[in-house]
Amino acid sequence: MIDLTSDTATKPTPEMRRFMAEASVGDEQRREDPTVNELQDMVAELTGKEAALFLPSGTMCNIIAYAVHCRPGEAVICDRTAHPNISEGGGPAVIAGVLMRPLNGERGVFTAEQAAAVFHEGDTHRSRTSLISVENTSNMGGGKIWPIERLAELREFANAHGIRMHMDGARLMNAVVASGVAADRWGALVDTVWIDFTKGLGAPIGAVLAGSEAHIARARRLKHAFGGAMRQAGIAAAACLYALDEHIERLASDHANARRLAAGLARIPGIRRPAREPQTNIVFFEPAPGGPSAAQLVERCARRGLGLGAIGPRIRAVTHLDVSAGDIDQALAIIAEAIAEG
Ligand SMILES: *Cc1c(COP(=O)(O)O)cnc(C)c1O
Repeated sequence: MIDLTSDTATKPTPEMRRFMAEASVGDEQRREDPTVNELQDMVAELTGKEAALFLPSGTMCNIIAYAVHCRPGEAVICDRTAHPNISEGGGPAVIAGVLMRPLNGERGVFTAEQAAAVFHEGDTHRSRTSLISVENTSNMGGGKIWPIERLAELREFANAHGIRMHMDGARLMNAVVASGVAADRWGALVDTVWIDFTKGLGAPIGAVLAGSEAHIARARRLKHAFGGAMRQAGIAAAACLYALDEHIERLASDHANARRLAAGLARIPGIRRPAREPQTNIVFFEPAPGGPSAAQLVERCARRGLGLGAIGPRIRAVTHLDVSAGDIDQALAIIAEAIAEG
C-alpha cells in the first residue's frame, strides 16, 4: 500500500522508537520531565520565542492560542480554508467562543486589504477583531508557502490596530526547508506559532506552541483546564526531539517527490494537469471532464493499493517520510491504469 492520503500516515522509524524507549522522563504536569523541557526549549529557540509548550496535538495548539488571544465573542480573521475553520469540530466556537471571519484568499493566502475589509474594533453591535490566524504552509492551498512580505504587511496592519497574530505551523518546517526562510524569521512576525511533529516530521504524537512567557503561561493553564497536561510525556517528546535532529532536512526529498508526482500527472491523459509546480509536499489534481469523478478515481486507485484523498472535485496527494521516488513512479502507473479503466 502506497499511502498518499496524508503526511500523518508516517510511522515512527525503528531509530525513533529506540530513542523514545531510552528517553529520560518525569512528571510533565509538574514540569519535571527533562525530555519535554528540552523539546520546549529547542522549539522556543528555533522559532525565536521566549517560551514553548508541548501539547498532544496541533488542534490543541490552535484552540489554546485562540483562547489565549481572544475573549468569547471576539472575532478571528483567517482564510476560509484554514484548518480551524473547516476541520476542528467547531472548536473555535465551542471552546474559545470566537467568531470566525473567513476570507476568500488565494490558495490560503490573503492580503492586509482583505483583512482590513472585515476588521472591526468592536462596538455594541459588532464583535471586536482580536486575532489574525495564518496557516503556513496552506494545506488546502496545496502546500503554499506564505510570501514573507505578505505576512509582514499583515503584521503592520495588526500592529496599527492592536491585534495579535497566530501562525498554524503544522507544516512550518516544510516552508522553512523549501523557502530557506528560517523558522525564527516567520516567528518574529507572529505572536504565537506552533509546529506539528505528526505530519512530515514523522512523530506519533505531539505539537509545540511557542510565544512570549506571558502567552505561554496562559496557554499552560488552559492546557491543564482542557485535560491536556500529561505525566511521563518525555516518551512522546523524545520522538519530536529525534525528528528535529533527523527529519527536517529530509523534507526536501518529500518536496522533490511532490514535484515528481506533479510532473508525472501532467503526462497522464485524462488528468487535468496540476496548475503549478508544488512548493512543498502537497499536490492537488483533478480528473478531466468526461472521466471518472474524483471519488471514483480515488476508489479505483485504492483497489490497486494507492491511497489518495478526494476533497470535492479535487484529489489530494501528500508525500512524506514513508514514500520513496520509486513509490511515486508506481503511484503514477496506478493512476494511469485507474483512469483508463473506463
Ligand atoms: C493537521 C493540521 C492541524 C491539526 O493538527 P493535529 O495534530 O492533527 O491536531 C492543524 N492545521 C493544519 C494546517 C493541519 O494540517
